[in-house]
Amino acid sequence: MSFDIRTLLVAVALVTAFCAGARLLLWRMHPTIPGLGRWALAGTSTVIGFALVLSYGVLHWQSALSLAQMFIIIGLVLGWDGFRRFIGKPPLSSCVLVAVAVMSLLWIAVMHVHYLTEVKALSNAVLVAVISALIARDLLFSVQRHTPAIRVTGCIYAINAVFFSIRAVLGSGNPEFVDPLNPNGVAAIMLLWLLCSIIAITLGMVLMTAERLQADLDHQANHDPLTGALNRRSFGLLSEKEMARALHYQRPLSVLMIDLDQFKQVNDLLGHDFGDQVLCCFVAVANRVLRQDDVFCRFGGEEFVALLPDTTAAEALVVADRLRVSFATESKLLDCAVKQPCSAITISTGVAQLQQGEPFASLLRRADSALYRAKDNGRNCCEVAQ
Ligand code: GH3
Ligand code: MG
Ligand code: MG
Repeated sequence: MSFDIRTLLVAVALVTAFCAGARLLLWRMHPTIPGLGRWALAGTSTVIGFALVLSYGVLHWQSALSLAQMFIIIGLVLGWDGFRRFIGKPPLSSCVLVAVAVMSLLWIAVMHVHYLTEVKALSNAVLVAVISALIARDLLFSVQRHTPAIRVTGCIYAINAVFFSIRAVLGSGNPEFVDPLNPNGVAAIMLLWLLCSIIAITLGMVLMTAERLQADLDHQANHDPLTGALNRRSFGLLSEKEMARALHYQRPLSVLMIDLDQFKQVNDLLGHDFGDQVLCCFVAVANRVLRQDDVFCRFGGEEFVALLPDTTAAEALVVADRLRVSFATESKLLDCAVKQPCSAITISTGVAQLQQGEPFASLLRRADSALYRAKDNGRNCCEVAQ
């Protein structure tokens, strides 16, 4: 099978332009997601690069190829910066971008005087291979939460790195063989790979954005926006699982029903913003005191619930008291202009352990009754349900 190189080149340039358009649209639709702007710029730089390669075919101006090389490398670096921003790694310093541009300009000047095809082809392949390998490393090994789109995009860059390394090896000593415009070399394979990889990488970017949006939506659906704790909806789903597990393995399960004391007064005397600050402080303390396996949620207003798997009522009472003491201590440190120094904000807690065959609603009711008793007993204490 033989391919017409110029037709392939036009196809690559058109696909690159189409993909750059898609990236610009993606950026316009989600301007607040980090990295999307860089991806759009990267796409535009690559389009200019391929337009210059095409113009070389018409004008035969040697510098067009060197300029094209510069724009394609800058596009690659901008894309790398975009990926780093997207996955939450520190962005590349602008010095790196400026250095790449300056080096490329110097390179063009040198090439203009001595047109060394072999050096040019080799340096281009090595640069693309190295930058692709660095992008692959960031996507495959430096991400905290891997998603399918991140993994696939990382693999495409890894293949790109291998592909251009092979090209560098094949091209050293035989630059004609890897010349992108030579129909008798590997140009067709190279252009076909470019065609596929540009589409796959842009698709990867779109899918990574979709995954990010889905994760954000899931987070919003399951968490309280003020404190970041789980909300009542997700608590319902997780508590069903914990109930089933406790029944299946015949393990104890306890619940804490927690209410901040005199919180209306806190709001009235110290302001609503300070009240919000207190709620966030309580959640931070609870996250520290409770275990990873415990399910903790904001049940509504200033009421919270914690579900403690593998925990008896006696053990849960110890946890509840630790939470009460820790929060009282921490709340003294909260900063408020009108607050008396060293005055603590306290909690009351009702504790209940799941009984044989008991529905979840009944467990919560018993914990709530215990909480009422704690309030009746003067607050700032924990009570266990009968
Ligand atoms: P008790 O000790 O009996 O529980 O008294 P309380 O004042 O804590 O209980 P009450 O139910 O009378 O008041 C709860 C207060 O919690 C009233 C409401 O304004 C406040 N609250 C609920 N949600 C929020 C919130 O998101 N932020 C702030 N700042 N306050 C909230
Ligand atoms: Mg209260
Ligand atoms: Mg309340």
